[in-house]
Amino acid sequence: MLTIENLTHVYGNGTRALDDVTLNIPKGMFGLLGPNGAGKSTLMRSIATLQTPTSGSIRFGDIDVIKTPDQLRRVLGYLPQDFGVYPRVSAYDMLNHMAVLKGIANGKERKETVEALLNQVNLWPVRGKALAGFSGGMRQRFGIAQALIGNPQLIIVDEPTAGLDPQERNRFLNLLAEVGESVVVILSTHIVEDVTDLCPRMAMLAGGQVQLEGAPNDLIRQM
Ligand code: ADP
Ligand code: ADP
Repeated sequence: MLTIENLTHVYGNGTRALDDVTLNIPKGMFGLLGPNGAGKSTLMRSIATLQTPTSGSIRFGDIDVIKTPDQLRRVLGYLPQDFGVYPRVSAYDMLNHMAVLKGIANGKERKETVEALLNQVNLWPVRGKALAGFSGGMRQRFGIAQALIGNPQLIIVDEPTAGLDPQERNRFLNLLAEVGESVVVILSTHIVEDVTDLCPRMAMLAGGQVQLEGAPNDLIRQM
């Protein structure tokens, strides 16, 4: 369970991107919906320990995310909004390299991890191809594979379906749903259908504040 309490983030220029956000996020897929500028990325980056909130608290199980970010990083998988890849490197080599960075030092264990992930996201047939040749959907599936290295307990995906065609989008979301059965997955998006199709729980963010929280079917009627 991820618990966010009274979280506020004010940027250096005075923008109050998060304004007293309180959210309880259980295991499974959780949708974070909101228009551009709502504060979604700021919230995602705060949870991912990439920026320190102005005030408030974030807890994941026993971990105090703000006080001990290193502990959170060990159980975190993150697919950022502007996920960049090294274009000339193959999918296999890139994933292998990221597994090294994640601390999987044992060669045999790393090989098994990389192979299993490439199979899971259906990129095994193109594992030797340079990432530059990947379509948007393939890139996002690669992004999920790298986020899954090391069996994370908390997975954050920020605007993952932007620019995907319907088929790639479905493929990607099905993959995410599979992953999301056993861990906490936060899906940040401005696309209502991403959430209604997939997430048993959601929150709607606007102007840095939680406007609605609950089951999508109950909430959509109020929107
Ligand atoms: P902090 O207070 O967290 O250090 P800053 O306000 O100094 O944040 O901004 C950090 C960076 O983000 C700066 O390079 C700034 O130019 C850039 N930035 C400023 N406004 C925006 C914005 N609306 N959206 C995205 N980036 C921005
Ligand atoms: P979303 O992901 O929902 O589009 P963001 O978290 O990116 O929302 O932005 C929330 C608000 O904070 C917006 O008004 C945005 O312009 C502002 N903002 C985002 N990053 C920065 C930054 N680095 N410096 C100043 N303002 C920022």
